[in-house]
Amino acid sequence: MIQLFLPLNFLGFVYREIRRALTDLENMLGLLTRKPSINDGPGAEPLTLTQGAIRFENVKFHYDSDRPILNELSFNVPAGSKVAVVGASGAGKSTLARLLYRFYELNSGAIYIDEQPIHKVTLASLRQAIAIVPQDTVLFNTTIVENIAYGRPDASADEINKAIDMAHLRAFINSLDKGDQTLVGERGLKVSGGEKQRIAIARAILKKSPILIFDEATSALDSHSEQAILSAMREVASEHTSIVIAHRLSTITDADTIIVLKAGQVIEQGKHDDLLALQGEYARMWELQQKQSDNA
Ligand code: ATP
Repeated sequence: MIQLFLPLNFLGFVYREIRRALTDLENMLGLLTRKPSINDGPGAEPLTLTQGAIRFENVKFHYDSDRPILNELSFNVPAGSKVAVVGASGAGKSTLARLLYRFYELNSGAIYIDEQPIHKVTLASLRQAIAIVPQDTVLFNTTIVENIAYGRPDASADEINKAIDMAHLRAFINSLDKGDQTLVGERGLKVSGGEKQRIAIARAILKKSPILIFDEATSALDSHSEQAILSAMREVASEHTSIVIAHRLSTITDADTIIVLKAGQVIEQGKHDDLLALQGEYARMWELQQKQSDNA
């Protein structure tokens, strides 16, 4: 029996290794084959970061020419502040983040970081200045700690530990038999949406960029996960200029400014209480979400 078991076991091992290698390759190809349609302009200089202030000025943008997405959109994100962007699904919230990261060119207008138009600085320096926590994070088939340090393989153990603590991942990691050496993904542990987003927050902390974009997950998280993410985000946001793309208004009531986007423009702007008092679109969205959570 053992004579049969060993070769079969070995074959199983080979199969799993090949599958893992293929998945890693798929992940890599997915990341590498994105069309590099945006390049450095002639004479592009590296971005000179002073404070990390952001300004959108009369930004017009469409993906398809017959369907405008942003229409003369203007707003400021003062250095060190937390600005939340809200609006109906499809209003263009995630598009703002893509434009700031220069995945697409604007049709007109400009976006400035510390008063430098982003289309005039080098892409590498621009993207180094911005850390993004996406809605859905790609995890690689490797250990949790390698997933966290992805993008900063030179990070010290101290830096990684600080990121784990700030991202509120410590209790989760301690609950695993192999701790931060636990394998995740295809071969290992299944990680929940909330845990994935906290891994992305830890990655963003390690990137040490002054600007943070947090794209809140649309899918509902359990309230424990949501609270852990909120606490992590509050800590991280206090050290960054941050833009939070929010779907649940309850998560951004503490923002310095809330921007309400509709038909490609800012229709309301202010703090949570001021916007409620305005009795406009934000107040209507708030009431609707309160009713939904009461019924849940
Ligand atoms: P949600 O709250 O659902 O995440 P959103 O406000 O973030 O929505 P965006 O993702 O910015 O909305 O999309 C704005 C509009 O642009 C949507 O109507 C969407 O269908 C469209 N859109 C997004 N990406 C593309 C693309 N690559 N090509 C064409 N249209 C796109």
